[in-house]
This record gives sequence, structure tokens and C-alpha cells, in this order.
Amino acid sequence: MLNNKYKLGLFPTALERMDNLSKVYPNYNLYIKRDDNSGLASGGNKVRKLQFFIYEALSKGCDTIITAGAQQSNHCRQTAAACAKAGLECHLLLGGKKPKNYNGNLLLSHLLGAKIHFTGDNRKGEDIIKLKQDLEIQKRNVYEIPYGGSNLLGAYGFVDAVKELKEQLLENNLKIDYIFFASSSGGTQAGLKLGIDLYDLDIKLMPISIDKIGLGDKTLDDAVLEILHQGQKELSIQKTYSIKDATLIRDYDKPGYGVITENEKMAIKQLAQSEGILLDPVYSGRAFYGMIDHLKNNKIEKNSNVLFWHTGGLPANFYYSEELSK
Ligand SMILES: *Cc1c(COP(=O)(O)O)cnc(C)c1O
Repeated sequence: MLNNKYKLGLFPTALERMDNLSKVYPNYNLYIKRDDNSGLASGGNKVRKLQFFIYEALSKGCDTIITAGAQQSNHCRQTAAACAKAGLECHLLLGGKKPKNYNGNLLLSHLLGAKIHFTGDNRKGEDIIKLKQDLEIQKRNVYEIPYGGSNLLGAYGFVDAVKELKEQLLENNLKIDYIFFASSSGGTQAGLKLGIDLYDLDIKLMPISIDKIGLGDKTLDDAVLEILHQGQKELSIQKTYSIKDATLIRDYDKPGYGVITENEKMAIKQLAQSEGILLDPVYSGRAFYGMIDHLKNNKIEKNSNVLFWHTGGLPANFYYSEELSK
């Protein structure tokens, strides 16, 4: 199961110590996992999930992929790139109205050849079923990737990522105590949790919630728990999961999805100016701010080794240039 991957990116992604930033927060040793450099059309965490989706789509003989997201969806941009590489037709359902000019991720999805459908208020893939039916009438063989690529198959990308991390930790004789990361549709979080248990690591996950609105009638915590239950069975993990294993840190999502505040700006500038690494304002910037808040206020145990899992998102900086220029 975990070997059924179509190769799309450059793995393992680098694991680096943030020497300069560790001096700013001397109670902690800070590391970063560079999934922003995962090697496909500006990188990001979705490449890991897509390796599993594209493999399954091709093995089922599909010729068309549908997925959904926001207009600045990194997931959609990476899906468009994966489809280009695998020779599949890509349809993206993006919330909102068609803008006059394309920018950021939307521009890249367009350049990567995706067929883009603007879906107004339906911003989380509500219209996928209808489009799928239309395409099937045209004799397309359609494979549907859920919103954000978050189901058990997508989560396998991050189960696999934990195996990769474990090998890097062994090589470097390193123990990580906490992993901070942006969690928004749940696949990354569920995959990391399943991977940590499958590969028997002792790491506490710190999933920073990005979007205060859940998925349909579910909270994101519930959606993550559902994937944990499915994965626990499929991977024979001897553990009983409860909602505690799926709970997100909600302290930083109050402004709403895609609303850029001084916090995200501060986080982006701090990492850029200390380590020369660029975050994005929607996901990784918000999550990084959450990590900094924990470090500054000693909300986690002192002298611990802390990893920030960089999930990518670079192109969104250009879309938010007005907010970020100030
Ligand atoms: C999608 C995305 C996330 C969140 O990952 P999920 O698996 O959807 O929770 C985090 N950061 C970036 C940059 C993303 O594009």
C-alpha cells in the first residue's frame, strides 16, 4: 500500500537546523523539514499525497482528474502539475468568481494547463459530483481527489513522510520532541499521526489550525479522527484513537482563512530574515507564528528539539502582495 506511489517529487526533502533562529529562542533547538522544496512546480506538501492519488488513478485507467479548492489553492496548483507530468486531464473547481487577471497559484494552475471552473460560494468541492457526471457523459474516465487531498490515501503520503523523517533522525542521531505544522483539510495531520504510531516515534504533534470553518457538517477534528480510525485498521496499528489524538490548536485561526494579519507578516519576515527561507501568508506563515508564540512564551517544554514542517505555499505571497508590502 505504502509503496504504491507515482514518482512526482524530490524526496527525501531536506531536514535542516535553524541555527540563527535557535539563537533567538535559546531555550529550544529548532529544525525545519523542507517540503516547500518537494520538487514539483514550486513544491509543497500536496506532492506527497499526489504520488498516491496519481498512482491509483493510473492503475484504474483514469484519464481525467477533478479536485477542488480556493482560488489560491496550493493543492490545486500541485494537482495541475502532477496531471501534466502524468499525462492526465485536470479539472479544478475553485470558489469565487473569475478574476480579470490571474495571479499566484491560480496563474500557475492555468499555465500548467488545468481546466478551471469557478464555483462561487461553493468553495469546498460541493460541485464535484455534477462535473464528474458531465465529464462521464463525455466518456471521460474520471478520478476524484477530495478537497485538499485529504482522505486516507492522501494521508499515506504523510505516513510515508514519517518513515523518511525517521531515517533522517537515525542518520543524524537526533530526537525531535515536537512538530509544528499548518493543518487545514486534515490529511497531513492524520498521516503524521498514523506514521508516528506505525514507526514508533515519540513526537508530539502541534497542528496549527488555519481555517476556523470545518468541512461540510464536520469539524476538522472529526475529519482527522475519521481518517485515523480508517488508517488504524488498514495499517494494523495497535491503538485506540480518540478525539484527543485529532485535536487542532485553534488559537491562531480567528481572523479567518486567507486573512493576513500582523502575526503572519511578522512570522514570514522573521524566518526570511533569519534563515533565508520563505513561508506563505495563508498556511505556513500562520503556523510558524503559532510556533513562535509557543517558543516565546515557553508554552512547550524547555530544551526540547522542535521541528517546523514547512508545507510550502510560496506562490500565494504574490497574490497577497498588497497586504505584504505594508
Ligand atoms: C494544503 C496545505 C496545508 C494543509 O495541509 P492539509 O493536509 O490540507 O491539512 C498546509 N500548508 C500549505 C502550504 C498547504 O498548501
